[in-house]
Amino acid sequence: MALRLQAPYRAPRGPALHCKGWRQEAFLRLLLNNLENAERPEELIVYGGTGKAARSPDALRRIVRALRALGDEETLLVQSGKPVGIIRTHEDAPRVLFANSNLVPAWANWEHFRGLERAGLMMYGQMTAGCWSYIGAQGIIQGTYETFAAAARRHFRGSLRGKLVLTGGLGGMGGAQPLAAKMAGAACIAVEVDPSRIARRQGKGFVDHATDSLDEALRLARDAMREGRGTGIALLGNCAETHPELLRRGIVPDVVTDQTSAHDALQGYVPAIPLEDALALRRDGPAKYTELSMRAMAQHCKAILAMQAKGAVAFDYGNNLRGQARKAGVSNAFDYPGFVQAYIRPMFCEGRGPFRWLALGGEPDDILATDRQVLRMFPKDKLLRNWIDLAEEHLPWEGLPARVCWLGLGERDRFAKRMNDMVRAGKLQAPIAITRDHLDTGSVASPYRETEGMKDGTDAVADWPILNALTNVACGADMVAVHGGGGVGIGLSQHAGMTVVADGSAGADRRIRRVFVADPALGVLRHLDAGYAEAGRAARRHWLRVP
Ligand code: NAD
Repeated sequence: MALRLQAPYRAPRGPALHCKGWRQEAFLRLLLNNLENAERPEELIVYGGTGKAARSPDALRRIVRALRALGDEETLLVQSGKPVGIIRTHEDAPRVLFANSNLVPAWANWEHFRGLERAGLMMYGQMTAGCWSYIGAQGIIQGTYETFAAAARRHFRGSLRGKLVLTGGLGGMGGAQPLAAKMAGAACIAVEVDPSRIARRQGKGFVDHATDSLDEALRLARDAMREGRGTGIALLGNCAETHPELLRRGIVPDVVTDQTSAHDALQGYVPAIPLEDALALRRDGPAKYTELSMRAMAQHCKAILAMQAKGAVAFDYGNNLRGQARKAGVSNAFDYPGFVQAYIRPMFCEGRGPFRWLALGGEPDDILATDRQVLRMFPKDKLLRNWIDLAEEHLPWEGLPARVCWLGLGERDRFAKRMNDMVRAGKLQAPIAITRDHLDTGSVASPYRETEGMKDGTDAVADWPILNALTNVACGADMVAVHGGGGVGIGLSQHAGMTVVADGSAGADRRIRRVFVADPALGVLRHLDAGYAEAGRAARRHWLRVP
């Protein structure tokens, strides 16, 4: 069956296979699903500035050809988006292995990376782009919602109703913010410099209002706050200008954060000059562009710090704005915390994190059936019920239907096994791919994000994600990936991903039982090793063995 390998991409749906089995077909569909949901599909860029699904159109064609020919005892090796070999392995080995954007530490900087990228020798894999586990905005909406909900519990007696959230960036990840904040009850103003991004988010229902007037944005926010109504407002502007202007007017949001692509001063963040001039300068004067971009990030971050000083709850949302601002001379940039340190770490200590699954046949009903199943299995989890209810009410399907929710050690394996049973019993129309974000309990070392401020000072120890990948290979995950860079930029993090295909087989039962225990267990062990008491309790509850 012919596949279209240029934009607009579309993942195949339905029961007909293009590969030798579902364990290969799954990755073909996930790859094309990444591109179906991509921010700039014609450049193979999925999200996160320049996070790509394949290195080049030629690499994409060769990956697809390789997947279609791949046997049940073979493994495809992908190095920074290019297929480099197929090796003979065995049935329970991964079908695809990735190493993306990894550089030897002393060379791990943007300059060296870009030289290799220009020469066609590497690509930026981000977190889920390079290993085909991106599920559109939903993946980040849920994490963003959980973060806003945790902030509400900590600072606002459980609700953001009547509160103003200010943020920036409406890209592949950042686009989730207005809807997530609205789901948590807030009025959210999200500043975005590129009108096409605003139009895209509005088209998908992630934004209720769009305006280029700060006055109008404030009026819409105030109306919603007065009525206790959640709303998402996109404001066309540059954060380095809007945020200082808000301060000049004496306006302090209740919560301030950011998801502009600050991790990348050249290809991501936009300096405070007209957008067309910025795009021309990016092409013709990259050094000048970077200088202006760093200066704008310093202004942007200083405004967030000033809002914090006036009482706003400020947190970094994992894009390295603080790191860039510190480089540009803002010595106190890290006065506000990263979101993991502030809100998420207790969940990581228990092995909880963003678990996700996709209906490979393309049927929304399959996801709705798994929604019912997960609620039946964990009836006491109020956050889970709340999330599934909100997701079903607010979230559009994007590409292959998918769901994400935070499940932990002791839950993931049981639910994954149940989904495999449902496939086997014909209760679902096609197999399910079960995966997770690299942002998870035991799979990432990122001193400005997931491992910021670890209790024992091991923020930068990258042994853990490597151990995570090795463990998942040993357990027989269908895909395992090791990436460098990710959300914070080259040289600043190391992380691992994995996927298991629930095709209804006994082999999938076996792989699920091993992988979905070991993977979150490693997260508990990582936090136990760092001295977190919650992790110690979780380890005892789950009988984890610690030599
Ligand atoms: P993206 O490149 O798709 O979108 C970034 C958006 O920011 C673009 O629309 C761009 O126009 C806008 N922008 C840039 N400079 C701006 C400025 N000065 N003012 C206003 N808007 C500006 O990136 P994305 O996928 O949305 O990711 C955003 C950032 O978050 C990246 O740095 C990414 O690495 C990071 N990230 C965080 C997480 C997380 O879990 N917290 C996950 C993935 C990515």
